[in-house]
Amino acid sequence: MGYLIRSRIKLMAIVRITYNGQMSCRLCGVVLSPINKCNAHIFPSSLLKLLAPGEYGSIKIVGTEMDRAKRTPIGSYDCNILCATCDNKVGIYDGYSRRFMENSVLVPHPSGAGWTIDNVDQHKLKMFCISYLWRASITNLSEFKAVSLGTVHEERMRQMILNDNSGGVNDYTVSLQKFSNDDGNFGGILLLARTRLVGLNVYEGYLPHGYKFWVKVDSRNEDKLSAISVGAAEPLFVGDRGNFHTSVEKTIIVRTAMRSK
Ligand SMILES: [Zn+2]
Repeated sequence: MGYLIRSRIKLMAIVRITYNGQMSCRLCGVVLSPINKCNAHIFPSSLLKLLAPGEYGSIKIVGTEMDRAKRTPIGSYDCNILCATCDNKVGIYDGYSRRFMENSVLVPHPSGAGWTIDNVDQHKLKMFCISYLWRASITNLSEFKAVSLGTVHEERMRQMILNDNSGGVNDYTVSLQKFSNDDGNFGGILLLARTRLVGLNVYEGYLPHGYKFWVKVDSRNEDKLSAISVGAAEPLFVGDRGNFHTSVEKTIIVRTAMRSK
């Protein structure tokens, strides 16, 4: 069974409704109708297939605050947030991130602190992380209640996605990490949650193939992560998170899955 584990923080999501009560696309603002509506995935279904290829179709979400596990065979989606055109727009980032995780060749960094990867479209990779976080913030789905960016950051990220602009290295700095065990077994993944890193507010998210990322969401611009962040330099640097099997993340995933009904 593949697992997505919901984090434990409860926060309210924001719903945008037009003046006459109609739902509008949160990216371009067009009123949603039966013609342009779509099932917008928050965590891309294409990445779910990478998460547990042999078990795709039996994914479930469990969480310490959830009464019961939520079965989401093809992942959870929201039909009230994006028009089909905008869903396809962010789908380009999703598609690239899948190819990146499937095909990347990691070269050990001389420092021992991680790896480098050549020929990465770092713009698209950063946009994927930001758009995933943004989608998690604008949806009302209960499994993403831990993500609430607030109106200022939601609007800034909306502009970045709308304009396909990943900003500078200090703008919503994205740092990529990876677990180092090479047995291909990374269990489930944790859904997005807020945490602190080197004194800054960040959201952390998990991806298939043992990848993990942080997105800095903090009014303080400068930080130690920027120089090695996604988009800062060629080649891309990926930090080593150590062995998944001895990680805090695996402990959380196993404990939560064992307790779920
Ligand atoms: Zn739209």
